[in-house]
Amino acid sequence: MSIKGKRNEPGALAGEAREGGYPPHLRRLAAYAVDPALSRGRLYPEPVDPTRSLYQRDRDRILHSAAFRRLNYKTQVFIYHEGDHYRSRLTHSLEVAQIARSIARTLRVDEDLAEALALAHDLGHPPFGHAGERALDAAMQVAGNFDHNAQSLRVVTALERRYANFDGLNLTWETLEGLVKHNGPLLGPVATAPVPDQILAYCARHDLELATYASLEAQAAALADDIAYNNHDIDDGYRAGLVGLDELAEVPIVRAMLETVRAAYPGISGGRLLNEMNRRLISAMIEDVIAETSRQLETLAPRSADDVRHAGRAMVAFSETMRAGVDELRAFLHTRVYRHARIERIMREAGSVVRDLFVRYSADPFSLPAEWREQAPEPGTQGYARHVADFIAGQTDRFALEEHRRLFDATPDLR
Ligand code: MG
Repeated sequence: MSIKGKRNEPGALAGEAREGGYPPHLRRLAAYAVDPALSRGRLYPEPVDPTRSLYQRDRDRILHSAAFRRLNYKTQVFIYHEGDHYRSRLTHSLEVAQIARSIARTLRVDEDLAEALALAHDLGHPPFGHAGERALDAAMQVAGNFDHNAQSLRVVTALERRYANFDGLNLTWETLEGLVKHNGPLLGPVATAPVPDQILAYCARHDLELATYASLEAQAAALADDIAYNNHDIDDGYRAGLVGLDELAEVPIVRAMLETVRAAYPGISGGRLLNEMNRRLISAMIEDVIAETSRQLETLAPRSADDVRHAGRAMVAFSETMRAGVDELRAFLHTRVYRHARIERIMREAGSVVRDLFVRYSADPFSLPAEWREQAPEPGTQGYARHVADFIAGQTDRFALEEHRRLFDATPDLR
């Protein structure tokens, strides 16, 4: 294509002949972005990296962690062996990162920080998704509780053991703050639940200021999570045969998008129709978030990242109309996909695998692999229970099933 032709493309700016360049207004970060030059730093000071910003480095540490690789064999909705096309927690996290970066870039906030938070947000999930978390939380009532968000913090501050000078990844204050508060403040009037002990214990050493909101970067990553799973679970639910196009059309925002696609491509059907609907729905949600957030930013006019933290409400948000549409979609996915009889049966069995492992490791320290046994606190104590929970939470679906087969006569095959 000639340069002349490119200049005539809609959206191209004057002087912007090179494909892929950012338009000038997106080249600099906004005043309300988190600025790595003003970071509150790491708990253990480290020399500056000559080529990467603090948040690029945080993102890279997350990407290189063992916990991140294990997300590959952890359930999002479907157990890993049900098929190669379904999302795992790893591919889910990558999709969240893509959406978080799109939002962050358009809002002119730090894309690397948003990406780091997206990649790290599910690191604390135990095997078998929410069924695994419920079973582990029930088992842990003897010693506090189990919460995947608190566990994500524990993974990046204690359980990854790769560096000579510290446990964990020694991430910056801003990344840790975003990880812990991505859904809003944990203390104060809007807090919805008691703060998990694990988070309080960490904050006693490194105060993450639990009563304020997190940065726009963290808020973008949190909403990107909503956009990613609500859309990919439509796709996975359809592929698994749990919901058909006619059923999906019961959801108003899905129906509207299906009609748009059919109008543009009469005769389109099946997976291609679903995908054309899905990609438009993702774009519509991202564009809605950007428009609504821009309105919020105009009204509240934050002049720094700290203004965002003290604004008293989240600024990255869906419009009211889109929020209502997303809520209807979420309710549909709950009843038709997550609580589908087939999924529920498998998840009940998965919960029993986690429960069995917890009981066995708790009763018999010699059932733990040597490495975990050697580091274990005194059996019968709360510390020992937490150690067992850490071990189980780090397991993949695959490893948990192997462990169950090693320790028990009969293991459900979760199919
Ligand atoms: Mg997630």
